[in-house]
Amino acid sequence: MLVSYMRIIIFGPPGSGKGTYASRLTAILGIPHISTGDMVREEIKAQTEIGRKIKEYADRGELVPDEIIIAMLINRLEKPDAKRGFILDGFPRTMRQAEELEKIVKVDLVVNLNVPDEVIIQRLSNRLICGRCGAIYNRLTLRPKVDEICDICGGELYRREDDKPEVIRERLNVYRRSTEPLIQYYRGKGVLRDVYCNDLMTPPETIVNEILKIISEYEKESVER
Ligand code: AMP
Repeated sequence: MLVSYMRIIIFGPPGSGKGTYASRLTAILGIPHISTGDMVREEIKAQTEIGRKIKEYADRGELVPDEIIIAMLINRLEKPDAKRGFILDGFPRTMRQAEELEKIVKVDLVVNLNVPDEVIIQRLSNRLICGRCGAIYNRLTLRPKVDEICDICGGELYRREDDKPEVIRERLNVYRRSTEPLIQYYRGKGVLRDVYCNDLMTPPETIVNEILKIISEYEKESVER
């Protein structure tokens, strides 16, 4: 398999399962999962100078200014593990971010998750995150073995500050306005593949397998090219 050198973007609205699928794909493919949302939450938790600057944006469901998030991402991509490829989750979210990314790396594949709003709202309003390792759970579909405790590291689970109904609405608006136009951008480059998840109860493995199929088709095509 050639996958270890692939640069993949998992694209989709908040609550489309990007983080869940990306973390599973990382374990299978052996390339890092780079989530700008996780990076933002870590800065805020550690109360760094950047963290203090971006907290308000993240809490309101707005985008962090391009300059800040682009600098954070470039910094992360310079780490040695990212030289072997990566799965990007939550970046790019604006045209400017996409253009900056293109200046530093060639994106091989963009997996576009298509999920109806009802499923997103149900999913986000029941989502739980591990405060220690960031693993994602769901009260309806992905319950931890012990209530409120992470199966993987034993950390305590919490609800994200931005998973409140009014903030979810704002995040969906921001997605439609600033991020959705990127679908056309990547479709035009011929690197975008669509995946559909219309049912809240679809197990993550089903979608992960679909994405793996897309990845192996891409590999076959690039060998033939
Ligand atoms: P996420 O976990 O991907 O939903 O991201 C959580 C929050 O972090 C977002 O609502 C934004 O405030 C911020 N954020 C994450 N990635 C980006 C990005 N690429 N551009 C701007 N803001 C971002």
